[in-house]
Amino acid sequence: MQLRYNYRVTPDAAQRTALAQAFGCARVVFNDGLRLRQQAREAGEKYVSDADLSKLVITRAKTTEERAWLSEVSAVVLQQALADLNTGYRNFFTSLSGKRKGRKVAPPRYRSRKDNRQTIRFTKNARFKVLGNGRLRLPKIGDVPVRWSRTLPSEPTSVTVIKDAAGRYFASFVVQTSEDETMPEVNSEIGIDLGLTHFAVMSDGTKVTAPKFLRRAARRLKRLQQALSRKQKGSNRRKEAVVKVARAHARAADTRRDWQHKLSTAIIRDNQAVYVEDLCVVGLGRTRLAKSVHDAGWASFTGMLQYRAARYGRTFARVDRFFPSTRMCSDCGRINDKMTLDVREWDCPCGSHHDRDVNAARTIKAAGQADFNDRGAQVRPGLVPAPRSEAVTHPDAACSTRSVAGISVLQGGEDVKAVRPT
Ligand SMILES: [Zn+2]
Repeated sequence: MQLRYNYRVTPDAAQRTALAQAFGCARVVFNDGLRLRQQAREAGEKYVSDADLSKLVITRAKTTEERAWLSEVSAVVLQQALADLNTGYRNFFTSLSGKRKGRKVAPPRYRSRKDNRQTIRFTKNARFKVLGNGRLRLPKIGDVPVRWSRTLPSEPTSVTVIKDAAGRYFASFVVQTSEDETMPEVNSEIGIDLGLTHFAVMSDGTKVTAPKFLRRAARRLKRLQQALSRKQKGSNRRKEAVVKVARAHARAADTRRDWQHKLSTAIIRDNQAVYVEDLCVVGLGRTRLAKSVHDAGWASFTGMLQYRAARYGRTFARVDRFFPSTRMCSDCGRINDKMTLDVREWDCPCGSHHDRDVNAARTIKAAGQADFNDRGAQVRPGLVPAPRSEAVTHPDAACSTRSVAGISVLQGGEDVKAVRPT
């Protein structure tokens, strides 16, 4: 499978300039390609093939006066920008036709110099190289120092250079591993309910709350954002405040990621199978609950569970069932009356007493096990792409917002509701 290894890199001033140029060229090629396809579509012409697009916006564009500067950066960087565009289109088409499962995918969007993440990718063809002195040789950029926080297990197949909103640079290597890392089998299986009162509640009764330092980081970020909003537009103080917010944001994200890595590692180690409800976190993200949802970071967390499960030979499945996990009794299966958010514990007529969230986690586990038995090995994920892919696919908000305990405002005051996405 493919694994991703990320390291901080510290380019010097000249390398940063060269990188800025490469980010810009990749963006221009991407946007030119997108514009060309959109224009062809509006004119009723047929879809421009990948090969034709490459000829038009790279090879031929280089010969024109307005795009001559494209020759100054590595050609692979430009080809990879177009590859991202093509992937974005393919995901959109397969999503339209229903071949791609899960959330709806929107067509690619234009890239902007103001985007939070600027990226370029070098493949083996580009002849990037990790040198004996520990530096990373990037064609037409230079030998960039890398902070090797851990060793690369084998020769990387590609490297993506990322500049984040805080102005930090990273190298993200993709490494193909063939070694068998399957962990010894364990007996326990677990269902996880993701909610707002707790970050996660497990079917065994464990409740996980986001640690204090994460909440502190979120508060600090909020304060800085308020300070920013008071600064006058275009002023130097505002520019300083923007950088401060970006730094605080990056730090908070790093802390959260570390914590989620630890949590997902422990869950995968201790359980043979992990089931979570297939939430539409993106859909929720656009509502007024956006902030708390994004702070919770469920999407990245379930992504980590999925990739670790694949890596260590565990089962991971998103339970794609439209059932009211909160009010279904995990003992007798009876669906009880809707309950308001403040009901934290309830009794089923069968005599069972339930903690609301633990019960939800237990019904998720039961549904996951039923799914798994029905479909057999299909649930077991095969190869999982390296996490944090930089493909341009972005899910649309057009999906259901069902079964999220604690998110009552979405459904007109109703706590839990099963809604089929159209
Ligand atoms: Zn019951």
